[in-house]
Amino acid sequence: MRRIGCGLFLTIMLVLATTPVGAGDALFQYSTIDALLAGLYDGTMSIKDLKYQGDFGLGTLNGLDGELVVLEGQAYHVTAGGMAQVPDDEDNIPFAAVTFFDPESSHALAPIPSLTALNAAVARSLPSDNLFYAIRIDAAFTSVAARAIPKQTPPYPTLAEAAKEQQIVTFSGRGTLVGLWSPAYVKGIGVPGFHWHFITADRTGGGHVLDCALPASQANIDILRQFSLSLPEGKAFDQVDLTPDRGTELRQVEHKQ
Ligand code: ZN
Repeated sequence: MRRIGCGLFLTIMLVLATTPVGAGDALFQYSTIDALLAGLYDGTMSIKDLKYQGDFGLGTLNGLDGELVVLEGQAYHVTAGGMAQVPDDEDNIPFAAVTFFDPESSHALAPIPSLTALNAAVARSLPSDNLFYAIRIDAAFTSVAARAIPKQTPPYPTLAEAAKEQQIVTFSGRGTLVGLWSPAYVKGIGVPGFHWHFITADRTGGGHVLDCALPASQANIDILRQFSLSLPEGKAFDQVDLTPDRGTELRQVEHKQ
């Protein structure tokens, strides 16, 4: 009996040790947005390891190869041209943010004519500007203008330079917006405000959202009160100059069409 009890105890301890702390209420981020802006496009974290940190989120792949969408535990790699495919679990990422999506609330949205209008409407549903949120919106979209940046080759340009090569594809029809909202105080580390990626319902297309229009829908919101940051291993990150203010560059890169 004592042996069985001991085994059970060990099993419970192992389950506890492998369950992410605060799952459902924590945003996990790999690297910083300023490191990405500076041209650090090769990370040391795999998609497999990223998926241990969350089942919902966004990012990019090594070489700044397109856009990453994580939805319902599956990662999608959108390459320049807007085509989505399932990446290899061993592929590495230079930047991503994920959470275990567990929405606390659902808010009805009136028909939305633009990304600016979407951001304003969703912002009205957020209880505070000081927290992190994951937001999921499923709809039959009137249009979604989504971009993906082509894979870069070393020596890497800055993100502002690389983004000049972005390819924009306009989608219409059913799909999902995978969104994150971060407070202003993450400047330099994350992307303050909204950051939306899109994936079509058949999971064959998507990208980083530059504009969109959609009929009446629901915004499902997960409030995140924990933020954890993991930094890349290696000299490239250790030696990059992260002192400059790259706020203006970030706004250009995130929104420019
Ligand atoms: Zn993006």
